[in-house]
Amino acid sequence: MRIILLGPPGAGKGTQAEKLVKKYKIPHISTGDIFRAALQEGTELGLRAKEYMDEGKLVPDDLVVDIVKERLEQDDTKNGYLLDGFPRTLAQAEALDESLRTSGTPLTGVINVDVEPEELLERLTGRRVCRGCGSTYHIKFNPPTVRSVCDKCGAELYQRDDDTVETVKQRLEVYRQQTAPLIDYYSGQGILFTVDGSREIEEVFREITSILDQQ
Ligand code: ADP
Ligand code: ADP
Ligand code: ZN
Repeated sequence: MRIILLGPPGAGKGTQAEKLVKKYKIPHISTGDIFRAALQEGTELGLRAKEYMDEGKLVPDDLVVDIVKERLEQDDTKNGYLLDGFPRTLAQAEALDESLRTSGTPLTGVINVDVEPEELLERLTGRRVCRGCGSTYHIKFNPPTVRSVCDKCGAELYQRDDDTVETVKQRLEVYRQQTAPLIDYYSGQGILFTVDGSREIEEVFREITSILDQQ
């Protein structure tokens, strides 16, 4: 199963990805997570990406595409994978298509998680992430049992540097201009499935799995 999770920042891609990869036993490939991990390790890649991330802008296509191509060559992707946060531009989508054509491994489907912009701001500014395992919470919509502590691993929760009101607004605008056109792109290929992401986490998950189980 080779899947893309598409949707604006805050739509719930990471939240659904956590559950989907557990159910389908495929690796979760999140370009945002890759950049944050690189930054934590203090690598050149991490430092370059940070400049863009802090401003709510996209990291340049060539950098992102190379990283994803390399990741998809690893053995654990043989039975499939879930891409979260990639592609985010038409150029990235075309580069991915080209690479999948070459390897003869077409996408199973693209799940478009649809949420109104008004709701995204509250979701992103209330988001908290685990320093240990990367799990995502929300102070109101999906709180941990103990404040600021991860239910799964006990590590501390933190707020991402780019989850501030100003940066979120910029990211939503970048989504509208550069990523939203991918909806038409994949719809044109006949592999786009749109789900209503404004519903409860469990309901959204049920809808996505029922779509995937039919593919
Ligand atoms: P994305 O990866 O698309 O940016 P996340 O999965 O990180 O989105 O979710 C953004 C925030 O919204 C998180 O704080 C998460 O806990 C919360 N969230 C995710 N799905 C839902 C939902 N269906 N209803 C309410 N809040 C949600
Ligand atoms: P979210 O989905 O919550 O907006 P991500 O963790 O996916 O956040 O991405 C955080 C930041 O990392 C983006 O704002 C962007 O700067 C960078 N980034 C992640 N994926 C890509 C990508 N495919 N292309 C360009 N930049 C990316
Ligand atoms: Zn954790």
